[in-house]
Amino acid sequence: MSSSETSQNPAAGGDSVTMDKIVALCKRRGFIFQSSEIYGGLASTYDYGHYGVLLKNNVKAEWRRAVVQERDDVVLLDAAILMHPKTWEASGHLEGFSDPLVQCLGDCKKRFRHDHLVEALEAEGKPTDHVVCPNCGGELSEPRQFNLMFETNMGPVKEEGSTIYLRPETAQGIFVNFKNVMQFARKKLPMGIAQIGKSFRNEITPGNFIFRTREFEQMEIEYFCAPDDAATKHEEWMAARMQWYVDLGIRPDHLMLRAHGDDELSHYSSATSDIEYLFPMGWSELEGIANRGNFDLTQHAKFSGEKLEYMDPQTNERFMPHVIEPSAGADRGTLAFMVDSYDEEEVEGRERVMLRLHPRLAPVKAAVLPLVNKDGQPEKARALYEELRPLMQAEFDTGGSIGKRYRRQDEIGTPWGITIDHQTMEDDTVTLRDRDSLDQSRLPIAEVAGELARRLAAPWQSPKLS
Ligand code: ATP
Repeated sequence: MSSSETSQNPAAGGDSVTMDKIVALCKRRGFIFQSSEIYGGLASTYDYGHYGVLLKNNVKAEWRRAVVQERDDVVLLDAAILMHPKTWEASGHLEGFSDPLVQCLGDCKKRFRHDHLVEALEAEGKPTDHVVCPNCGGELSEPRQFNLMFETNMGPVKEEGSTIYLRPETAQGIFVNFKNVMQFARKKLPMGIAQIGKSFRNEITPGNFIFRTREFEQMEIEYFCAPDDAATKHEEWMAARMQWYVDLGIRPDHLMLRAHGDDELSHYSSATSDIEYLFPMGWSELEGIANRGNFDLTQHAKFSGEKLEYMDPQTNERFMPHVIEPSAGADRGTLAFMVDSYDEEEVEGRERVMLRLHPRLAPVKAAVLPLVNKDGQPEKARALYEELRPLMQAEFDTGGSIGKRYRRQDEIGTPWGITIDHQTMEDDTVTLRDRDSLDQSRLPIAEVAGELARRLAAPWQSPKLS
C-alpha cells in the first residue's frame, strides 16, 4: 500500500478545475451525494444518483468492452464479496494488509498514515527524521500497523470461527475460482479472468471525495501466463491500460506510469507500476499493474489442498501460472474522467460549465428540446425522443428557457442537443447542437438517430487537446 498522493501539484495541468468544483457539480446535478445525508452523513461514504450511476456504469462498460469483448483471451467472473476466511490467511491479508497509523499526541488527536506524511515531507525536500502532526504541530505516536480489513460475523451468534471479512480486493475471488473457470472457459494460457465488484477497506485517512473511500468498486483482471511470458505480458498490459484512458479522452500529459521502488512493493509482487493521474490534489494512483508471480495460486494450493497447476496441452509440462494484475478503481476512474473533462468558458457574457466527456461515457447522449412548449413542438419532440431512447440514453426536456436547458445538459456532459422549432413544424428538420464546438447543423428529423449512432461509433478526441 503506497501512494504518491501527497506529491503535490495543485496546478492540475493548468486547468481551472478544483475538487470543490467537482464536488459542487456532482451535488448540484445529482451525480453523487454524501451517504446517509439526512442523518448528518457517514464520513467518506457516497451514494451515486441517476447521472452518477449512468456515468460509472459507462466507465465499467467501456472497461468490459476493452478487456473482454474486444479480446479473445479474457472471461468474466462475479464472485461473492464474502469469502471463506482461510482465503485471507492464504493471501497474506490477515497478517500483512495494513498501513502504518500514527495519532497526534498534541491538541488535535488526528490520525494519519505515517507513510503519507513522510512522502509529503520528501516531496517538499524537508527532513523526515522527526515527523510531527501536519495539523497542529504536536508530537506523533509511534507508527502502528493497522489492518484494513472490515470484520463481521457469519450467522446469528458471534462465536469462535464466525469471523469473516468484507473482501478488501476482488482479486482473491478470481484466484480461488481459477480451477472452476479453467474447466469451463475452453481456453489455454495465457488467459485472463476479469471482475468488477465492491471492495472494502477500513482506510485510516479516506478523503478527496470519491478518490479514497472505505467502500469502493474495483475492476480487476488476473491474467495467467507461463512464467517466462510474465515480463512481456506485464509490459503489454501497462501499454494497453494507459491507452484505454487516452482513448476515452484523458489527456496523455495528465497520465504517467510510475514503477514502484523496491521499498514500495507488496509482499506478493515482483514488479508493480501505477498509472497515475494528475488529480487536483496532485499526481495520484488511478490503477496498479502488478506482476504477482505465482504467489497467490501457490498459497491457495497450499491452504486448500487443491492442485492449481496448469498443464500445457502441447508440451504436457505442468507449472504454476504466473499472474499479471491490472487493478483499476471504478470510482477513481469516474473521478478522473470528470476532472479531466471539466471545463468553463464564457459564451456571450455568460459562464458555461461543462463536462466534455467522451460521448460513450456521457450519462446522457442526446437531449431533445422543443424550443417552445406549444404549437405542436412538444409532441414532435416527444416522438423523436421515443425513437431515440431504445438506442441510447436520451432526455426530453420542456422546462425553462432553452439557454437554461442547454446549461443543464452541458453540466451533465450531454454531447448532443436536438432542438425542435417552428421550422420543424414546416419542413421536418431539426437543429443538432454539438456540446463542444457549439456548432448547430440542420438535418431532417428522420436522419437524427442514424447521425447520432454514427457519431457515437466514431473515434473521438478531447477538444481540450486542440
Ligand atoms: P493506495 O496506495 O491509493 O491506497 P493501493 O495501492 O492500495 O492504493 P490497490 O490495492 O493497488 O491500491 O488497488 C487497486 C485500485 O483500487 C487502486 O488503483 C484504486 O483505483 C482502487 N482503490 C484502492 N483503494 C481505494 C479506496 N480506498 N477508495 C477508492 N478506490 C480505491
